[in-house]
Amino acid sequence: MTDTPFPINPEGSALKGVRGQVLTFKADPFLNNESECYDYYEDGMVVIQDGHILAVGPYSDLAPEYPELSDIDTYTDAVIMPGFIDCHVHYVQSPMIGSFGDTLLQWLNQYTFPTEAKFKDKKFADDVAKVFFRQVLEQGTTTANVFSTAFAESVDAFFEESERYNTRMISGKVLMDRNVPDAVKDESAEESILVSEQLLKKWHHRGRQLYAVIPRFAPTSSPKQLELAGQLYQRYIDQGVYMHTHLDEAQNEIDWVSQLFPEESNYTDVYKHYGLVDRRSVMAHCCIVREEEWQTLHDCQCGVAHCPCSNLFLGDGQFKMWEAKQQNRPVRVGMGTDVGGGTNFSIPRNLNEAYKVSMLQMKNINAVKAFYLATRGGAEALHLENTVGSLAPGYEADIAVLSLHPSEFAEWRMKFEDNIFDKLFVLMTLGLNNMNVATYVAGNKVFDRERSEQFKYASEFQKSEYKSSKL
Ligand SMILES: [Zn+2]
Repeated sequence: MTDTPFPINPEGSALKGVRGQVLTFKADPFLNNESECYDYYEDGMVVIQDGHILAVGPYSDLAPEYPELSDIDTYTDAVIMPGFIDCHVHYVQSPMIGSFGDTLLQWLNQYTFPTEAKFKDKKFADDVAKVFFRQVLEQGTTTANVFSTAFAESVDAFFEESERYNTRMISGKVLMDRNVPDAVKDESAEESILVSEQLLKKWHHRGRQLYAVIPRFAPTSSPKQLELAGQLYQRYIDQGVYMHTHLDEAQNEIDWVSQLFPEESNYTDVYKHYGLVDRRSVMAHCCIVREEEWQTLHDCQCGVAHCPCSNLFLGDGQFKMWEAKQQNRPVRVGMGTDVGGGTNFSIPRNLNEAYKVSMLQMKNINAVKAFYLATRGGAEALHLENTVGSLAPGYEADIAVLSLHPSEFAEWRMKFEDNIFDKLFVLMTLGLNNMNVATYVAGNKVFDRERSEQFKYASEFQKSEYKSSKL
């Protein structure tokens, strides 16, 4: 990777270096020889300019190439890796995380909808967005695919906060015009699509923000709303707009869908019928999936968000990783926290749960596969694999730094491991909440666990010359 470093832009901002153990992925270890899927530098460096990565490689190679580079953050006993990618999360459920449980459909009625009704109030939405961003950035997550609510206020609040950090985020208005309480229900299918399109035009590609058309799930949209949502998605898909929804999460949900749409042969076909299954569609959960549905998800290049913490908490079902990754029709899979069904904002802690869900099927996810899923896998699921999710020249400089001794016990435990992947496996399995020590967004250290002001907006840095990448 050091052969073709990006040329320095003489008019650009000063160079920045991040030095330490560096790990990044370049291919899917479920489908390829693992050793060819990553680059690891024991004493490595990431060189950054104007929010993008100029070069990555061994420090000893890069230091002479960039003699003018003096601003270097050095991390010992930590691993520098791409910022984590959360492929499915509801920021608006932050106020109800950890609510005493019930199964999915009851849980939505009891906790979710009453909470989401509060987001008509912009001030409430602003406050929750602020808390949410602090939570995800503290955990090293730099990109997320996010549900808001049916209220435009909640979409604006989310993107406004994202702009302050300059994070690459995906969100949009949630569509639901039936089978939900009146307090969160769209007035009409037509009106809901009109509002969505206005928000799309306001936010899509404004800085790093990206828009998604979001029917909550098939049971809460009328056929008319699904039809109009499909048309909106198809009108803007070439401009990179997403479709984000839930699919095949729990058996009683699947049964309900087949009652509501008896003419379709499976749940995926319901979405497909309305033009919602395509190359920028991201489906959350996919725990109980028929073979013909996997085939459709593969053929249409959809992304799937594996949300093990949430699936266990709600007792939904077990995601079948090895079905999804079948060699002859692999599906793009990333990790999702699915807060508030999920019980924490940390992607590494969700890897811990993914391992256990896999072990129930007598398959084990090692640290190579796990941290691929957390970074590049997520970028592939979101079709952003040429933009974020890897540390390589030209990528946006979004970085997480995981401490290998986040506690006295962890430090002692690590003494018994030599290999970096064995250490990372212990780290994800211990699942401590403070393992991420620093988060860089477009080259700015927006979170630093050691700094007196832990969080900083992009505007608080001396020069923010970030220019949005072409996607
Ligand atoms: Zn969800």
